Amino acid sequence: MTNLRRIITIDGPAGSGKSTTARLVAVQLGWQMIDTGAMYRAIGLAMLRDGIDPSDERAVCARIGAHALDLRPGSPPAVLLDGEDVSGAIRTNAAARASSEVAVHRCVRDKLVAAQRRIGSERPCVIEGRDTGTVVFPDAGLRIYLDAPVEQRAQRRLRDLGDNPGVTLAEMIAQVRERDRRDRTRAIGPLVKAPGAVVIDTGGLTVERQVARVLELARERFGGDR
Ligand code: C5P
Repeated sequence: MTNLRRIITIDGPAGSGKSTTARLVAVQLGWQMIDTGAMYRAIGLAMLRDGIDPSDERAVCARIGAHALDLRPGSPPAVLLDGEDVSGAIRTNAAARASSEVAVHRCVRDKLVAAQRRIGSERPCVIEGRDTGTVVFPDAGLRIYLDAPVEQRAQRRLRDLGDNPGVTLAEMIAQVRERDRRDRTRAIGPLVKAPGAVVIDTGGLTVERQVARVLELARERFGGDR
């Protein structure tokens, strides 16, 4: 038996493979997956629907209390905004942009970090995002940092948007770079490798290899305590 907290955090920039890896690792371990990006996207979507500029901190913070956010366990978990399942609606490029803009505001981060800690304290989980190993669960038993070249990450994002993404690869590379810049330079919960996190470059790896590597690390860390 170990005393390590049964939480795996997976952080990294957009398109580095966090969601896919976290989902499959969580299924293998029988743990809860928490997709924190989906929560920021839901707040971004809520603001767009309310006609609020996501970059307007005062307006966002005045409005955020009017919305209830929940995750329904599953793989991946469903995102409920005011009781409505918005898991599909948050996957647009507009919601992605809005999420990255609302994510710099303290009121948004405080609300979502508190919700993530609550969910993670209920059962073992695999949580992915930008600040999960640094801010949300710095005491997690295993912390991972995924990365990949920007061209490859932009290509993955385009693929996620389906047959008619509405943007070119060059435009997507520029958007991903801009989101990376915002994520890395914000004052609260910036994207940074947590001390002691294991870095995995997913550039040349298949999804199967990524998942196998994290499971191997989980076995080493948690042993029979999984
Ligand atoms: O990972 P995903 O692209 O779904 O995340 C959407 C946006 O939410 C990111 O661009 C990032 O700005 C923000 N985010 C964050 N902190 C997290 C997870 C996501 O700021 N833990």
